[in-house]
Amino acid sequence: MSQRLSQSKLLAWYAESKRDLPWRNTNDAWKILLSEILLQQTQVSRGIAYWKKLVARFPTPQAMADAQVDEVLLLWQGAGYYSRARRLHSLSLMVCLPSNEGGYDGRLPQTAAELLKLPGVGPYTAAAVASIAYGEPVACVDGNIRRVMARQSKNPEPSMKEVDAWAQDILYGADAGNWNQALMELGATICTPRRAQCTQCPLASSCKGRETPTAYPLPKKVKRKRLDLQCTLRFDATGKPELVQRGSDGILAGMWGPPMAENLNTEGLELIGIIQHALSHRDLYVEVWLGSCSKGTDPSSVALSSLAQKILSLGE
Ligand code: SF4
Repeated sequence: MSQRLSQSKLLAWYAESKRDLPWRNTNDAWKILLSEILLQQTQVSRGIAYWKKLVARFPTPQAMADAQVDEVLLLWQGAGYYSRARRLHSLSLMVCLPSNEGGYDGRLPQTAAELLKLPGVGPYTAAAVASIAYGEPVACVDGNIRRVMARQSKNPEPSMKEVDAWAQDILYGADAGNWNQALMELGATICTPRRAQCTQCPLASSCKGRETPTAYPLPKKVKRKRLDLQCTLRFDATGKPELVQRGSDGILAGMWGPPMAENLNTEGLELIGIIQHALSHRDLYVEVWLGSCSKGTDPSSVALSSLAQKILSLGE
């Protein structure tokens, strides 16, 4: 099968089978950027509700730039990887600067090279936004595309450079946005990690690895670190907990929750449980110590991490 035939089959399959996702019904680069940043580490099914909330409250970069970062964090609450929300807010501030001050006059830049200069935008996001919103012929590379490439080429451990070269080589430049989305959609729905549906795959006839798809690529070894923490969960007389905002660096930066650190003074407090919580590369084990305080904070008024929500539910 020629490469062109594979391209036309993949594009036809995508037109027919793509999931109806709300950000696929817009050409607005800002709204597409919001979806790409959310989907970096949030599942599509959960990402939809967050995307709708963000788009409704911040329909333009200016709307976000006019808001405090705490409001962005509050909307992001529960989506995890909160540094994304902080960087997004920084991005909106930079975009809304006048061009003579290094900004973009409130409009997202139109090329991947310019988008890459913005906070929190890496090569994947820059290529996705530039190709989908503006049609720039630039290939995206994400985990889905890496898997399709590894199987198509029967390469168990492709380097990012190899995947990048492959993606750029097969790119259908005349419709790069749909092409990139089609390849990612194939990886997300047909060429999935554990159960590749090769009989339904529009790229089956060019695939060298289809006899043993799960052999490609080999799983990446992720080293996980254990981190032991202590947390003091104190309530005031009205039942409101003591909540503090974490610093701008480190885990759960900028989010709110009960005080938590490797060592806290727990004298006179009661140990009520240990909560286990997984972050991307760390497993947290948090001792929760119960006590009282003079004045708490209404939890609904601040951005709580999901770990903080787990800790608070322990005290209910
Ligand atoms: S034929 Fe199978 S392994 Fe190859 S790309 Fe298609 S779904 Fe993946």
